[in-house]
Amino acid sequence: VSDRLVVVGGDAAGMSAASQARRLAPDLEIVAFERGNHVSYSACGEPYFVAGIVPTLERLVARRPAEFARRGIDVRLRSEVKEIDLDRRTVKVRDAAGGASAEWGFDHLMYATGSAPLRPTSIEGIDDPAILGLRTLDDAAALKQRVDGGRGRAVVVGGGYIGIEVAEALVARHWEVTMVTSGPHVLEKTLDPEIGDAACQAVRAYGVNLMTGALVERVERDGDRFRVAGADFAVEGDLVFIGLGTTPEVELAAAAGIPLGGTGAVAVDNYQRTSIEGVWAGGDCAEVSHRLTGRQVNIMLGTVANKTGRIAGTNIAGGGPTPFPGVLGTAITKIGEAEIARTGLTTIEARAAGYQPVTGLVMGTTTAGYWPGAAPMKVMLVADRASGRLLGGQIVGGAGAGKRIDVIAAAIWNGMTASELAWVDLAYAPPFGGVWDLVLIAARRAADDAG
Ligand SMILES: Cc1cc2nc3c(=O)[nH]c(=O)nc-3n(C[C@H](O)[C@H](O)[C@H](O)COP(=O)(O)OP(=O)(O)OC[C@H]3O[C@@H](n4cnc5c(N)ncnc54)[C@H](O)[C@@H]3O)c2cc1C
Repeated sequence: VSDRLVVVGGDAAGMSAASQARRLAPDLEIVAFERGNHVSYSACGEPYFVAGIVPTLERLVARRPAEFARRGIDVRLRSEVKEIDLDRRTVKVRDAAGGASAEWGFDHLMYATGSAPLRPTSIEGIDDPAILGLRTLDDAAALKQRVDGGRGRAVVVGGGYIGIEVAEALVARHWEVTMVTSGPHVLEKTLDPEIGDAACQAVRAYGVNLMTGALVERVERDGDRFRVAGADFAVEGDLVFIGLGTTPEVELAAAAGIPLGGTGAVAVDNYQRTSIEGVWAGGDCAEVSHRLTGRQVNIMLGTVANKTGRIAGTNIAGGGPTPFPGVLGTAITKIGEAEIARTGLTTIEARAAGYQPVTGLVMGTTTAGYWPGAAPMKVMLVADRASGRLLGGQIVGGAGAGKRIDVIAAAIWNGMTASELAWVDLAYAPPFGGVWDLVLIAARRAADDAG
């Protein structure tokens, strides 16, 4: 009898693990349980479906159950794992009909339940189901339907990535949008103020009425009219979207006795192993190690979920041991033409990790200044004063600005110093940048202050 891998959660991490395990272990029996209506879908594309750029939700589904079946992966939709019994090595699964629970034994268990939008109990009324969030394709369908149902005023609570992308979609669909965020700028936790303020300008320039420093205390509803209020403000709207971050779905793991880490996500080692033999985890529900600080973090990104899922699959199938090399927290988004990207540590995070950060902050244009359509761009690099080693980078600017972050991420990944980055042979022609790319100039500035 072959071993059985049971996957709990059928999206990025779970199906990456299943697919990789299948490639390396043709005889392994693989069953994936997904409580929703889809597996292998792109949550990242949902705001663009709401905006009307992606015409159908089906386009966001990378692979259907039948395609997995052809590869010998048994995918069960509308099947929720309700209990994990680590002693008996079984899971209890309830199907959509809510009927009888079936019990499945496992040799390996991949825990990949993801994360859910946060609804902080400190905000009165936030549990109202009429307040919309985004996670699954069904959430996206519900938001799209509401947006299609008529224009009006929308309130986006939270200035994170998802809030920004949904605000962009709503403006594109001719809604009047107010974004309310408690921090001094959008993307408060991942950008320094110099870049965060520029990101705020970009959000406002796109037509969003942005309120910073506004802590929401309650959401009231009267029929289909909402009132979002704090100590000294109140905003009315016909639609409220909540984008206050996400929380890892760990209840099932915790109830089973699978240990959680300090972040509250499932604790795993670099091989995606929990401390329970044969139980693995990856994606939004699990911790990962930060490449610069060596600390365990919970960074909820599709990039990380796909990679950690693949690593788990490799190791489950005995194709390893292959370690996951860690994360830098590289992320990117856009609003209108403005692109916002970051990697590594902010100055605040760098200080907290024991570094003395110096920064190189430069302003310029996305193309040669004389090129038609040249748009402003700001690049900031963070480096360690003592060693000159690069620690982080942040960018805001017009089209073409954002993906420059990848050069910075690659440099940090390889332990380069600011003065080394300043001389890297980057491509140049007037439609793409200046002869000294702003990343190089920012590196030179940071190097001047370091060492
Ligand atoms: C609107 C939006 C935009 C995003 N944009 C980006 C982006 O541009 N770039 C980026 O890198 N990341 C982005 N992300 C984040 C990215 O989508 C997630 O990091 C990624 O989907 C995590 O994958 P996962 O497999 O860990 O979890 P999830 O995608 O959350 O999947 C977990 C699955 O498990 C299922 N499940 C949970 N519990 C059970 C159970 N008990 N039984 C059965 N099934 C269960 C859930 O239904 C879900 O389908 C975005 C997320 C959202 C919501």
